[in-house]
Amino acid sequence: MWFSTVSSKIHSHNNPHISAANGFADASGNLKIVISKRLKKSWRVKVCFRTGDRVLTLPSVLENPPQEIKSCLLNWAMLPVSSKARRSPGFVRAKRELENMIRAYMESCGVKKERVSRINPLIFEHQTKGFNYNLQKIFDTVNRAYFKGEIRSYIRWGQNASRTSYQTIRIDKDGNPFNLITISGVYDSPLVPEHVIYGLVYHEMLHIAIPPRLVNGRRVVHGKDFKLAEKKYPFYDQWIEWERENMGGLLAKARKRANKIKNKQSG
Ligand SMILES: [Zn+2]
Repeated sequence: MWFSTVSSKIHSHNNPHISAANGFADASGNLKIVISKRLKKSWRVKVCFRTGDRVLTLPSVLENPPQEIKSCLLNWAMLPVSSKARRSPGFVRAKRELENMIRAYMESCGVKKERVSRINPLIFEHQTKGFNYNLQKIFDTVNRAYFKGEIRSYIRWGQNASRTSYQTIRIDKDGNPFNLITISGVYDSPLVPEHVIYGLVYHEMLHIAIPPRLVNGRRVVHGKDFKLAEKKYPFYDQWIEWERENMGGLLAKARKRANKIKNKQSG
């Protein structure tokens, strides 16, 4: 019934490791929040397929967080669970952004970052040269033209059949954070004009220059200042128009190709 590996005895008063959280009086009716003493660095949600009820289990460091972190947690717990919804372009970004906020708060409380996520960023240097566009060259050009060369980030191509481009903060093997920009592989095509790929890279770099901030407990990612700065790109209108007219078709083609390859491999 519950899709999760956590014990379903979560409401039991006999379990000394679990207690109800009272810092979340404003949680909605079908969401229960419990504190687990076993959890240290992570949190999780279980969803009952039959009733849609959810149980959010938190480590004690998140028992009484400030209001904005509380709403991040509530939003995270109520993210859609259907695989269709989870494939949508906005989903990955929304989830990641909520998680980054929550993790940043936990770190400010002295919780150390997870060791397992540590990677050597040098691997991305092999993922920047596409078939049509070299992302490092574009990044460097945009950095010089708009950011006085001050943006520090790795950049790589993402999957071909995904439309999502995004920017994240990762942790290297020595525990130091670094920026990583991922541009959807669907843009690595001779059909994509230069001003489109430059616009896209500029957009993701702007996220580093103008990080998301909290306004009344809500995470503002593309705020007024962001949008204003984005329009400094002289081909902004052409870029957006091109996306609107061509991206659907390009993406459909990329997915068809990806499926063909998959079928070949499995057949
Ligand atoms: Zn954005």
